[in-house]
Order: sequence, then C-alpha cells, then structure tokens
Amino acid sequence: MFKIGLGYDIHKLVENRDLIIGGVKITHEKGLLGHSDADVLVHAIIDALLGAAGLADIGTLFPDTDPKYKDADSIVLLKNVFELVKKKGYKINNIDSNIIAQAPKMMPYIPKMKEILAKVLDLDIENLSIKAKTKEKLDAVGEKLAIEANAVVLLEK
Ligand code: ZN
Repeated sequence: MFKIGLGYDIHKLVENRDLIIGGVKITHEKGLLGHSDADVLVHAIIDALLGAAGLADIGTLFPDTDPKYKDADSIVLLKNVFELVKKKGYKINNIDSNIIAQAPKMMPYIPKMKEILAKVLDLDIENLSIKAKTKEKLDAVGEKLAIEANAVVLLEK
C-alpha cells in the first residue's frame, strides 16, 4: 500500500538569524525567521511525512506558542516525526523536494543536506531528491525577502 504526502513551507529572511536549510548552516547575510530554527526544507518534508501518514500537521504537533520549540533543531523534530511514521508501520519509498530561493546559491550545500537527511530518514541518497530553483526575481521570494520549500513523500507498507 502506498500513501503520498505533500508539504509546503515559507519563512521570511531577516537580519541576525542563522540560515539553516536541510540541517546545513549556510553562509548568508540573513537567516530565516521562525519560532524554531526555521529550517524551511525540513519543515516541508515533515509536513509531507505527516500528511502521507494521516497524522496532524506540523503546527499542531509542534505549536509555535510552546516555549519547548523555541529555536528547536528541526532535525530533532524530523527524527520525532519519522518515529511516528514508523510506528504506523510505514517506510519511506522516496522523497522529492524543491528549495526556492533567489539567493544564496543552494547547489553547493545540497550534497551535505542529502547526507544529513538520508541518514536521519534511513534512505538511500538516490531516493532523496533535493532540487534548487530561483523565483525568476518574482514575488517576495524573488525579491530575497523569503525562502520557500516544497516536498512530496511516498510511504509504503
Ligand atoms: Zn517552517
């Protein structure tokens, strides 16, 4: 049996924040604003996993009103979610994802992101796709005010 899940996230780029995407700290003059570390890619993957497994969404599981999740490491949240998914008897078939950012360039960081996420999710690298796109200078992402990510996950049991 297969279950598909779709995840989307966006965070604002602001001064005085680290930029962490896919568990990797990226050199940039701004970082993403959020209650947690605002790892936009990991959040999209978490929501895709939760959606596929028929579980509550990320905002319900890890509310941003809960001080416990202030500056939380999203990789730890991902580990928790993967445990919930496994508890329901699923394994991950594959993940495809996009990071949409006008700047900085994501390409140099993608191999490291894949290494980190594949390890956490017990996946072969070839079953974990992370693609980088710009927004052709259109809208808030194109104006470098925000970074977006989306992900699809296929679960099987
Ligand atoms: Zn988020």
